Amino acid sequence: MDSIDKLTEIFKEFPGIGERQARRFVYFLMFKNGEYASNLSRLVLELKKEVTQCKECFRFFLASKTKTNICDICSNPSIDTTMLMIIEKDSDLESVQKSRVYSGKYFILGGLVPIVEKTTKSRVRIEELKNKIKNNASLQEIILAFSISPQGDHTDQYVRSELKEIVDLKKIKISSLGKGLSTGTELEYSDNDTLRNALKNRQ
Ligand SMILES: [Zn+2]
Repeated sequence: MDSIDKLTEIFKEFPGIGERQARRFVYFLMFKNGEYASNLSRLVLELKKEVTQCKECFRFFLASKTKTNICDICSNPSIDTTMLMIIEKDSDLESVQKSRVYSGKYFILGGLVPIVEKTTKSRVRIEELKNKIKNNASLQEIILAFSISPQGDHTDQYVRSELKEIVDLKKIKISSLGKGLSTGTELEYSDNDTLRNALKNRQ
């Protein structure tokens, strides 16, 4: 494999990028000067150095300023601790956070559960989620907010069944976003009104 192929393979791993686009990125980089390339590689390394994963919600955040491993959302004293929104990934959290329609806590599951898959537990943070719920005395409602797709629906059902025992025991309400979102909607691309409606119509 030459460096063109190696870089193409790396770009192909990016979300939503196929072989052809990956190759276009490589050719784009070939036309750029050395300064561009060294700046890019420096920023990638800096990102890895400055970023840490919140031990409460599992989102990635820039820890260089705060020097803690709890993010600014989780450490915000005015956050509504009675609500916990469970989402697939960081970019979904960012959309909901930007829309300002929700002021509770978050938990990033780390992925969706594919319909045909036996080893689910290795993929998503279901045990971490159960622990979080167990250790949270003020929690009253859990909102499942996955994309409206067969995989999102499947994940919704999976999380509900995994949490059933504990939410029944602790009398926690569990609801799903979705009525306000249309089929195929990715949470990260939803606008504020859509998110507001989806949250209002959760069930
Ligand atoms: Zn956090």
